[in-house]
Amino acid sequence: MNIIFLGPPGAGKGTQAKRLERQYGIAQISTGDMLRAEVAAGSEIGRKAKSIMDSGALVPDAVIIAMLGERVRQPDCAKGFILDGFPRTTAQADALDALMAQLGLKIDAVLALQVDEAALTERIAGRFTCAKCGAGYHDSFKPPCVTGVCDVCGSHDFIRRADDKRETVAARLRAYREQTAPILPYYAAQGRLHTIDGMADIAHVSEAIEQVLAKS
Ligand code: ADP
Ligand code: ADP
Ligand code: ZN
Repeated sequence: MNIIFLGPPGAGKGTQAKRLERQYGIAQISTGDMLRAEVAAGSEIGRKAKSIMDSGALVPDAVIIAMLGERVRQPDCAKGFILDGFPRTTAQADALDALMAQLGLKIDAVLALQVDEAALTERIAGRFTCAKCGAGYHDSFKPPCVTGVCDVCGSHDFIRRADDKRETVAARLRAYREQTAPILPYYAAQGRLHTIDGMADIAHVSEAIEQVLAKS
């Protein structure tokens, strides 16, 4: 099964994609996580991407498309994958269609999480992740069961993203509105778009996603 998650920053794409990854044994592909790994490694891509990411703008399509093309060919994608944060522009959506045709694969469902901007800002402001295993948390909405201890791996180290500050969030939301939202009608016109109410709590959003996937 191959799934695309669409939705603005903070909508809950990563949270839901990680759950599906465990449930279906398919790979979560987060282009944001991949870019952060490049930044941490100090690679050439990482050095170029860092200032762009810190400003809240999108990294050039050519860089992302090449990275994604390599990623979906990895063995852990053989059973399927969940695209989290890709495509983000119409050029990326076109490149994805071409890549799928080339690999003889299809996208089974496009899930768009809808969340209003006030809630997104609050979600992003309280977001943090486990430094060791990447599990995602929120100060108010999803704290670890034991304060300071990762539910998944027991680590005591957590990180907050450099671009999750309020000033950058406005730029990221603008990039979403101007560059990413225009791809929704493209998938809608093909009858592939499923809109999910992302304002509900995490468990209810998961249920709504299950219902769509059961029919896909
Ligand atoms: P969020 O989870 O808040 O939506 P991501 O982790 O997906 O954020 O992305 C963080 C940053 O990485 C983006 O603001 C952008 O600079 C860059 N990025 C991630 N995915 C893409 C993409 N598909 N195209 C261009 N830039 C991307
Ligand atoms: P995205 O990948 O779309 O940027 P995340 O999955 O990282 O979004 O979620 C952003 C923040 O909001 C995280 O701190 C997460 O724990 C929290 N969150 C995710 N889904 C919900 C929800 N349905 N209700 C409340 N908080 C949520
Ligand atoms: Zn952990």
